[in-house]
Amino acid sequence: MIDDAIRVLAGDCTVIAENADREEYRGRVTTIVKPDNTVLVHDADGYQPVAWLTRADSVSSDRTGDFTLVAKKDTQTLRIAAHDQDGFAHYPTSAAGTPVGDCPDCGGALVRSSDVTCVSCGDRYGVPADAMIRDDRCDCGLPKMRVERGLAFSICLDRGCESLDAAVKEAFDREWDCPEQGCDGELRILRRGGLIAGCEHYPDCEVGFAVPAGVIDGECACGLPTFETASGIRCLDATCDRALDGTLEADSAADD
Ligand SMILES: [Zn+2]
Ligand SMILES: [Zn+2]
Ligand SMILES: [Zn+2]
Ligand SMILES: [Zn+2]
Repeated sequence: MIDDAIRVLAGDCTVIAENADREEYRGRVTTIVKPDNTVLVHDADGYQPVAWLTRADSVSSDRTGDFTLVAKKDTQTLRIAAHDQDGFAHYPTSAAGTPVGDCPDCGGALVRSSDVTCVSCGDRYGVPADAMIRDDRCDCGLPKMRVERGLAFSICLDRGCESLDAAVKEAFDREWDCPEQGCDGELRILRRGGLIAGCEHYPDCEVGFAVPAGVIDGECACGLPTFETASGIRCLDATCDRALDGTLEADSAADD
């Protein structure tokens, strides 16, 4: 369920903002308190709040006498007192993002911000930042996503349904030899923070590379695969500069 709520207080209010100095306003304003305790006081015009406090440490309310809200953060205090209250309400809220399909559980809209979230039931799916959400669906009803990790994988949004780690592992586990001199190990696909290709002889051999977001397009002069990524061709080993050697040689050969 969506348990995040936006609180809204509307009415004729006195607003006092205190930091090093003190500002006082009065007007018929609308105050919005977000789930992260960001407080915005809006008057009649413009997009900018009259007063605000971003991610306050605390927001308390007192309904005895005039309705008051007090937000505090470090040395800053924002006080809103309603002399004449037009309304006070809680509304459910979600992240807003690009629509990417329907929720198979409740039929609500799935949107992508950093994660993919259902705006109706609050279901949330963590997706890699570079993932592209596709139009086609998994058997479970969720949209699939395209994620490049050596190959372009098309898998379910829900890692509990289809696991990216398992797909990458199936494709590339023991596929590459450890480049360390004198080490006869193979690189295993494993998760250590991110998804990495790491030597099977760890911790005796500490060779390990984060698997880049891109598709393998060849072999580096060092023996490891090269990846075509958003920022260009690179070696699996981010510190290896020999991926470029090949192209440079090819270029000079073409010039001859
Ligand atoms: Zn839903
Ligand atoms: Zn699925
Ligand atoms: Zn090794
Ligand atoms: Zn290399």
